[in-house]
Amino acid sequence: MKYALVTGGSRGIGRAVSCKLAEMGYFILINYQSNDAEAEKTLQLVQEKGSNGEIMKFDVTDPAAIALALNNWASQHPDEYIEVLINNAGIRKDNLMLWMTGEEWSKVLDISLNGFFNVTQPLLKNMLVKRYGRIVNIVSLSGIQGMPGQANYSAAKAGVIGAAKALAAELASRSITVNVIAPGLIDTAMASAEDRERILPYIPMRRLGSPDEVAAVAAFLLSDDAAYVTRAVIPVSGGLIG
Ligand code: NDP
Repeated sequence: MKYALVTGGSRGIGRAVSCKLAEMGYFILINYQSNDAEAEKTLQLVQEKGSNGEIMKFDVTDPAAIALALNNWASQHPDEYIEVLINNAGIRKDNLMLWMTGEEWSKVLDISLNGFFNVTQPLLKNMLVKRYGRIVNIVSLSGIQGMPGQANYSAAKAGVIGAAKALAAELASRSITVNVIAPGLIDTAMASAEDRERILPYIPMRRLGSPDEVAAVAAFLLSDDAAYVTRAVIPVSGGLIG
């Protein structure tokens, strides 16, 4: 059995990625923070794809909770390891920098950027020992372009891009790839009605992307066809460049 951990797997893009990876035969470890019912729904969808999974609830900002969950899993699977990690958990707390609170700044960075470190770091040793791993990070066009009202979110996502590129270079010789997907506006709960109205005219394809369209790119990055793709940042944005 091949194991994949998807952070923020309960809803939206994480759910679509979980289902796509289930189709590819992975056993899915579905992480989330609080929404038990939605996580159960993702697990059910994964099972309907003919694979299986389990719920792995922890807050990506809490290293002790992550260690507990991963150590529990490892003790139950002594001969196996998590070979795929999708760092997808993220939130927005938009505000103009002038009015941004320290809490709005820190929370967004803590989940996206510290979450990337907190979850990735404990999985590296086994990937290195096995000389195989796939790490895909879901960022945002905001991390490439910088978006007004999103200094916190742009910083968090840009930070993940930099860290992922550095990590990719560290791991490349061991057949471990690290790549980044930068979605534009995707049809999930995160895309507010106001976003949809304001941004749609600037999207050359004149539509939002679907979570499945992001998941398809993640699936490619896990495939053998992508064995030579690492340190890449791939926009999935219908032509929107920021
Ligand atoms: P959703 O709001 O639909 O889902 C967010 C997911 O992240 C949920 O599963 C949520 O869990 C989980 N999550 C939030 N905080 C934590 C935490 N501290 N620990 C663990 N899990 C957490 O978002 P999307 O699916 O739209 O977004 C997924 C990723 O894609 C994010 O990183 C986002 O920044 C990025 N993105 C999204 C775009 C869009 O237009 N939708 C555009 C560009 C990037 P729970 O259900 O328990 O709350």
